[in-house]
Amino acid sequence: MSHVVVLGAGIIGITTAYYLNKAGHQVTVIERNPQAGLETSYANGGQLSYSYVAPLAGLGVVPKIPPWLLRADSPLRFYPKFDIDQWRWCIAFLRACNRPQAEISTVHLLRLAYYSRQLIHEIVATEPVRFDYRRNGKLVIFSDHESFDGAKRTLDFQRAFGSEQHALDRDQCLALEPALQHIRQRVAGGIHTPSEDAGDCHDFCVGMEALLKDRGVEFRVSETVQRFRVDSHDGRRAIRAVHTDRGEVSGDAFVMAMGAGNAWHAKALGFHLPIYPLKGYSLTLDTREAQQRGPASSPHISVTDSAYKVVYALLGDELRIAGMADIAGYNTAVDPVRVRLLINQARSVFPDAGDYTADLKPWCGLRPATPKGTPILGTSPVSNMFLNAGHGALGWTLSFGCAKVVSDLIGGQQAAISLQGLTLAD
Ligand SMILES: Cc1cc2nc3c(=O)[nH]c(=O)nc-3n(C[C@H](O)[C@H](O)[C@H](O)COP(=O)(O)OP(=O)(O)OC[C@H]3O[C@@H](n4cnc5c(N)ncnc54)[C@H](O)[C@@H]3O)c2cc1C
Repeated sequence: MSHVVVLGAGIIGITTAYYLNKAGHQVTVIERNPQAGLETSYANGGQLSYSYVAPLAGLGVVPKIPPWLLRADSPLRFYPKFDIDQWRWCIAFLRACNRPQAEISTVHLLRLAYYSRQLIHEIVATEPVRFDYRRNGKLVIFSDHESFDGAKRTLDFQRAFGSEQHALDRDQCLALEPALQHIRQRVAGGIHTPSEDAGDCHDFCVGMEALLKDRGVEFRVSETVQRFRVDSHDGRRAIRAVHTDRGEVSGDAFVMAMGAGNAWHAKALGFHLPIYPLKGYSLTLDTREAQQRGPASSPHISVTDSAYKVVYALLGDELRIAGMADIAGYNTAVDPVRVRLLINQARSVFPDAGDYTADLKPWCGLRPATPKGTPILGTSPVSNMFLNAGHGALGWTLSFGCAKVVSDLIGGQQAAISLQGLTLAD
């Protein structure tokens, strides 16, 4: 048994602490906020999207970028900065936008996501954590035949790796999700994945924090990681302690789980993590009245509107609406223009789902994104610093698999899945 210090208590830090504790390690979590899950893991899209993992860097993306950047209602926004990391990331992203790379990344992500699904199902069956979890499947709708045909090709490709998805025509989409009636004419078709889940990531973090405290995990909250004390022996560097604004914490091993902030700390330790924040927005709509009116008012399954890249997930009585990817640095201010756009897009799809003039709890968060869309797991150039970083748009979905892999590696065991394509060396 060793003492492991987990840096950050978003969903990645929380799940890592869970598996480390389960494996019998002494665990300390350091988190700058007063509670777990208050940053990117706070109000994300809620989708546990195990089969819909194809990276943003896809074959058809490059031609779409100029029109996206010009359109006022674009899902993607680029705010150029005098920041070498931003440009370096964008160049690496553009390089990854080709079919072979997108397919390789998809295969690695599917392997990890299916492992994650198996683990979350175990947790749901065995742990007393409540987070509005539901197994209700997901429907991705397409507005033009070209995109729909592309999605059907992806479906065929993924079938070989175990995905169970079905292509539906317009009428079948409407029969499955009657609340899509208002955009009937816009639906060219859809891909239905019955095995997708949804759940509230923040509720999970808070519930798991309480559970882990009861099981002996130490949470040092409202404490900020500042720098590291590093020793060097025979050319091998190791962390002896982490310095925070409240003192020093020593340990045998450390896990970087600080979301978009990981890249800064890696730089301070002398290595590069290809992670840059992609800012996204969400709204939360009360659907209680709409649900009483019947199934045609608000969606009962998770829906992705691929034309606008907006996702909808039912969490308890609320509809979580999330989307947008702004390449805008580390600024976490909520832009009212982007919020209005998201409200208008949601209202045009599900106008009867709730009162859009009420407080929709607008929120934004920074997806810690890598250019290829694959996370970075395992060892780093500093011998006892382990990485659980760069989960981008899929951090909630992948968290369980990534955490178990990292916990196994720290315990000196082999991970249950191949880590090919998922390490700093790849
Ligand atoms: C709009 C939007 C929608 C999304 N929808 C989905 C979805 O539907 N499904 C899905 O799977 N994923 C989704 N994601 C992605 C997912 O939310 C993220 O990948 C995930 O939350 C990242 O978790 P994390 O723990 O790495 O980061 P965070 O949640 O940001 O956690 C990092 C933690 O580290 C702490 N920290 C940082 N620096 C320090 C420091 N110096 N000292 C101490 N503590 C520190 C922070 O306070 C924070 O609590 C979405 C993201 C966004 C923005």
